[in-house]
Amino acid sequence: MSVRLPKEIHQERLKMHLANVADRQKYSDPETGSFFTSLLEERSCPVCHENHEQFLFFKDGGSYVKCTQCDMIYLNPVFNDSAIENHYRNNHDCQSEIVENDSDFYTNLYTKGLRAIETIVSEGNILDIGCSAGGFLDIALSCGWKSYGIELNEKEADYALQKGHTIYNKLLHEVTFEQKMDAVTLWDVFEHLKDGYAYLTQIKELLTDNGVIFLQIPSADSLAAKMLQEKCQMFDGIEHVNLYSFKAIEKLALECGLSILSYETVISEIGVMNNYLSYDNPYLGGTTNLQSIAGLIDEKAIHEAKMGYKMQLVLGKI
Ligand SMILES: [Zn+2]
Repeated sequence: MSVRLPKEIHQERLKMHLANVADRQKYSDPETGSFFTSLLEERSCPVCHENHEQFLFFKDGGSYVKCTQCDMIYLNPVFNDSAIENHYRNNHDCQSEIVENDSDFYTNLYTKGLRAIETIVSEGNILDIGCSAGGFLDIALSCGWKSYGIELNEKEADYALQKGHTIYNKLLHEVTFEQKMDAVTLWDVFEHLKDGYAYLTQIKELLTDNGVIFLQIPSADSLAAKMLQEKCQMFDGIEHVNLYSFKAIEKLALECGLSILSYETVISEIGVMNNYLSYDNPYLGGTTNLQSIAGLIDEKAIHEAKMGYKMQLVLGKI
């Protein structure tokens, strides 16, 4: 297994990101540089359903605001349903390459998440929504879980199927499951969904009585996001529509009749922050100090303060 450093992963992501951003000109009015209003809709805080927003910044055509009640950061205006569907169809379904996230970087994240699930429910059926080529399901299967996946990308779905997982190449609401799930996981998916309430409620219906939902999502509380602000890759202007703070996800979970059973943060982004503090491009700088931010804050301190880049959460029915 090849070891890929987070920096290399960032470089790849940045390349893809820049290509995406260049492609976005088709959505923008050349006069103003803003997205065409016909693609957009206004909304209130997706968690509070009220409008207590503070404008933060523009990023690649999108406008990010923060709810002063729950600290949720969200795109407002946001692409309407048909515009976002059209965007995903043209940018993702035609992917020709299978992204196999089998590096140590992903294996460590997947393993940590599975351990968090297994402290609550240790076996049974597990469903990964947006499973890509099945990287997480491989680990779950090897630990004795019966593995199910949902993946819209046909090539990735086929690939995961060949590895022995039960895969549905459909949207969640189009699938009828014969059995209830002991765990449903969403890795870096939930931040793409405008209506978190509707989706969580739908997933809750699939669970056994003791079943859990696992989410890995970017954290609006993260030190890297707070330090880098619009320079942070967390903010992409179109796809990352909802960036939850812990306060916001806790509030949303409660509203759905769910409680948070475990909560950790992962990925320190120390290298990225050190690059930024050296006046370099945060994602392409040459900083080799991955131990601490300017010699002051180490990885342990970041995660103890729950200020890592992403949250890993396990939710259970109340
Ligand atoms: Zn709010």
